[in-house]
Order: sequence, then C-alpha cells, then structure tokens
Amino acid sequence: MRDDLKSVFKSEVTALRAYSLEPHETSIKINQNENPWETPKQIKDETLRQFENYKWSRYPPFISSDLEGRLAQFAGWTPDGVLAGNGSNELIQALLMVTMSAGKSVLISEPTFTLYRQIATILGGEVQSVRMTTDFRFDTEAIVDRIKRDDPQVVIVCSPNNPTGTRIPDSDLRRILDAASGLVVVDEAYHEFSEQTVVPLLRDFDNLVVLRTFSKAMALAALRVGYLLSAPDCVVEIRKALLPYNLNLFSQTAARVALDSYATELRPLVNNILSERQRVFNEIDQLNGFYPVVSTANFMIVRSELDPRVVFEHLLSRDILIRDVSRYPMLEKYFRISVGTPMENDLLLQGLRELAS
Ligand code: PMP
Repeated sequence: MRDDLKSVFKSEVTALRAYSLEPHETSIKINQNENPWETPKQIKDETLRQFENYKWSRYPPFISSDLEGRLAQFAGWTPDGVLAGNGSNELIQALLMVTMSAGKSVLISEPTFTLYRQIATILGGEVQSVRMTTDFRFDTEAIVDRIKRDDPQVVIVCSPNNPTGTRIPDSDLRRILDAASGLVVVDEAYHEFSEQTVVPLLRDFDNLVVLRTFSKAMALAALRVGYLLSAPDCVVEIRKALLPYNLNLFSQTAARVALDSYATELRPLVNNILSERQRVFNEIDQLNGFYPVVSTANFMIVRSELDPRVVFEHLLSRDILIRDVSRYPMLEKYFRISVGTPMENDLLLQGLRELAS
C-alpha cells in the first residue's frame, strides 16, 4: 500500500493480521469447536414454519424482546439484564467499544481466544496479559496482583478456556470479582460441556458480565446468535454500541425454537459429545508421543513430540482438518481437536496412530 494511504489507518491496525483461517475443505472438520451433529430436523422445520408467517419486508423490532425474554428464562436471569447479538463476537466487540480507548486497558489470561486482543487493540485500548500456569490453570494469584497494580477497566476470563479447555473454579472467580473495580467478563461459550455456569454469581456481583453463544452446543453456528447477561445498568450502556436490528429475524426465530427444543433435541447430542470426549482422551493418552490435556469443553489440546504442523498436514492428507495452535503463547508443541461424531473420532484416532512412535 502507498505510504500516504497507509498512514490513514491506525498503526495498531496495520500491524495486525485479520482474524481468519486457511480455507481447507475436508470431510472431517474438527478445527472450530462446532457441534459435529447437524441441527436437528425438528428445529429446522419449526423455524421455517414460524418464519413463513412473518413479514419479510419490515424491520424486526428494535429490541428482540421476545428472544431476550426467553433467554432470561432459559438462563435464570432478569430480562432487562439480557442482550442478544449477532454471535457472541458482536457482544465482545460492543462491550469493548463502550469501554476501550487510549489510556484504558483490558486484562486477559493467555493462551486464550485471540479476538479479545484483536478488538481491544483496534479500539486503541491496551492489552495486559497474564500467563496461565504450566498445567493451564488460571493463575488467579497473578491475575489479582495485576488487577491491584494496574486497575484495568475490563478483565476477560474465558471459561472453559479456548483453546486449553480448562475452567476457572467459582472460588477463584469470586476473588477476581472482589478485586476488580471494573467489569469482569466470563466468556461461557462452552459452558454446556462443563455442565457448570457462573450465572448464579450475577446476583452477587454487579460487575460480572457473562457471554454465551448458540454456535457450539446449540448447533446454530451458521445463524450467528449469542447473548450477554449482566446487571441491567451495564446492558443499557453496552446496547448503545450495537447497530439497529443487529440480529436478523430468521436467526431470532431459530434461537427461540432451539431454546424450546434444548432438552429434547440438543442435550442428547451434548451428552454424546461428553462421552466421546472421554473416549478420545483415553485413546490419545495411550499413544506414544501424544499427551492430551483434560478438557471441560468440546475440544482438547494435545502436546505432540512431532511438530504440530506435521500432525496437521498428515491428518489433512487423511481428509481431517484440525487446528494448529502452535503459534499461541505456551502452545508451541500443541494442536487442538474438536470432539466429533463417533465415526469422525475413529478416523482421527486412526490418523494419529499412524504417526505415534
Ligand atoms: N468465544 C469463544 C471462547 C469462542 O471460542 C468463540 C468461537 N470460536 C466465540 C466466542 C465466538 O462465538 P460466536 O460464534 O457466538 O460469535
């Protein structure tokens, strides 16, 4: 790019690479922690049936109060403390938009989901980072020390953490919430797979923000639905950064239907993923040169004596796409796999056996 044109863009932005993945088409896709099971037919049919009766020519309501009411019921929180978004990514962005600017900072624990750093940097905020412990637990001591020293506006805790799969104990989270004068965001994108939630803590802490998504256990990644739970006062401020009609009516409809069908249609799929997670872990654990890390999510990282890139390429040659996370801090020797269907997991295990020394 011409230098004079380049100077138009913020230097923080030109220094970044876009958040994106290499485009690979494979039969087995276990690189993005999606639900390996397709959205149940009952959810698709009911969504299409309801959607046909709506006016497509009109804007949807400004606030998707129908959906936000249902989300409140589902999560066990108050409707005015709920914000629905175009994927939880949009809500991370909105939250950082209303908090970050030059002179403001966010504290994250790494390795973690890379979008937090990306968005905060684009907005001119400062990103402070604490390493996880060598066994990938949250280093609560270090986090609390940094909060006391630097007083960040926002602390983000991804729990279960992407990509390590580890979860912060509630007692540690309480210590962080007590220490922080700013917001503490818990990204619970994978909470269903841990069978635990921090939502009950919302009653005790008006600085807690919980993020959730329909892209994982709810099997609706293509429709881009996420939601945020917090004290109503915080929702009022964060909503200001959302574009009008951020969540299209089709996605709102599908999300409502998915909530209604969670127990009967989706929970059984989650249960299957949980038993497969245990099986895949046990089998990889038996292989020479591969060391899986216990995970509370629908994915796990594996330390490899072989270069993770070699593992990636070998599996790609077997039509299997995994995530090479070796560029994340602390993860030079690791790759990440999402838990697939039993048949997909069998093929993954076969591919890894071919490499095991
Ligand atoms: N948070 C975490 C921790 C994630 O791993 C992801 C997706 N990879 C997201 C948020 C984004 O979810 P959504 O599809 O709802 O934008």
